[in-house]
Amino acid sequence: MAAIHLKDMPRKRLRGWLQEAGFQGFRADQLFEWIWRHGRVELDTMANLPRRLRAHLASQSSLHSGLSVARQLQSSDGTRKLLVGLEDGLQVEAVILADRERRTLCASSQVGCAMGCDFCYTARSKVRRNMSTREIVAQFELCNTLLAEAGEPALSNIVFMGMGEPLANVENLVAALQILTDARGLAFSARKITVSTVGLVPHIPRLVPLGVHLAISLNASNDALREQLMPIEKHYPLVELVAAAAGFARESGRRVTFEYVLLGGVNDQAEHARELVRLLNHVRYKVNLIPFNEFPGSGYRAPLEEDVAVFQGILRSKGVDVFRRRSRGRDILAACGQLAGKGEGAV
Ligand code: SAH
Repeated sequence: MAAIHLKDMPRKRLRGWLQEAGFQGFRADQLFEWIWRHGRVELDTMANLPRRLRAHLASQSSLHSGLSVARQLQSSDGTRKLLVGLEDGLQVEAVILADRERRTLCASSQVGCAMGCDFCYTARSKVRRNMSTREIVAQFELCNTLLAEAGEPALSNIVFMGMGEPLANVENLVAALQILTDARGLAFSARKITVSTVGLVPHIPRLVPLGVHLAISLNASNDALREQLMPIEKHYPLVELVAAAAGFARESGRRVTFEYVLLGGVNDQAEHARELVRLLNHVRYKVNLIPFNEFPGSGYRAPLEEDVAVFQGILRSKGVDVFRRRSRGRDILAACGQLAGKGEGAV
């Protein structure tokens, strides 16, 4: 079986690969357009490619990918959770959030997750493997097909907030983002894409040239608290993380989103809100508050409504743009931190 998969290669890499085999560089543009813009999988239908090139591709590479939706759950609020079967039989979850004309894909980047955040359900299943570039992109294609069949608008936004830590799979993620945003590929606007990370500091600059948004799961206002919740803190303490965020904001010209899961009685008090403002002093940012979504055996509880209001009020009074994330798809275990790749949830 051919080792190279054409759908794992951004256009530039495809060009290098073809040139090495003695073909002209522009053939990569043609091939790339057939694959991504026209969605072709039959080499014989790619009329403008010379026969010799098609023969080379047929013997040296593959193009078919066998991803499918194993199961689909629909929430009472319109959120859909898809259990996506990968080529080797493992499964990940992809979520489609619907809001009027807006359709947001919450995409996965790994099967499982190794980050071990104490409050996250995905962390309970250890990481099995990275998703390949083609698997990452396939979630987008599968969801758009599904939306088209349902007569709904196409995906307008993508957030990498599903299963896995995107920057722990940075090579495949970056390649997937290049394919998604390539004008000759899927031509999806980079400004409509957000990559969320626990804060793998050394990889953050890789996102700058791609033009995508950055979200950082902060979840704590000081080192001691963060270390208790997120093991990654030991590798990259808050000062380093905040400096990396400031660098991203400066170089990309984009504001950084800090996500903050509010855990009842743990990190949701007024003192934490004030500490948070001081911590982020030098960054251009906004804050997304996520009230904790409970799951069986989580050991944490959702914040009290009044604590959320006070927390939000303090940030606002300091001039911070703060949003509260509405919890979506909770009845089908599709909300933040509830994805386990098992297709759980009532139908
Ligand atoms: N690994 C990346 C991408 C996943 S994003 C990251 O952590 O950023 C998933 C988001 O949901 C993160 O902001 C995480 O902090 C949050 N989250 C995890 N468990 C949660 C839960 N039980 N309730 C609410 N939010 C949760």
